Amino acid sequence: MSSHEGSAKERASAKRDRPAPVGGGSAPLMMRKCQACHRAGLARSQTVGLCEECDATIAEEAHQRVRVMQEALRHLRGEANPAVKLRQWDLIIAQAEILLKYEERDIPTTCPPPSTLLQDFQALREAALGTG
Ligand SMILES: [Zn+2]
Repeated sequence: MSSHEGSAKERASAKRDRPAPVGGGSAPLMMRKCQACHRAGLARSQTVGLCEECDATIAEEAHQRVRVMQEALRHLRGEANPAVKLRQWDLIIAQAEILLKYEERDIPTTCPPPSTLLQDFQALREAALGTG
């Protein structure tokens, strides 16, 4: 008895209005240039635009930088020393700035995006400076 339950799930998501490719536009749908290493290859996701390798590497890096930021933010909560506070904020902002470089290349890392985080962090840093 071979009950082949092949649930034919067809990707209905592929039907979206897509602008016509510019500059020749002969690239096959699944092959695209990786935003990070610029090699053409199979992309896991059309929206992210990274090859499998870079996708994993950048996701891992983003994860670690977010951890550093969270750690520093936690540190800030119980910190009274302005000099230490400032150092923590600088550390946090440095992480966001690095992630911003990815955002500039349309590579998503954090949600909200690094540019938003950076704005918030810089405002908070200013506020921390103001409190004496
Ligand atoms: Zn790549």
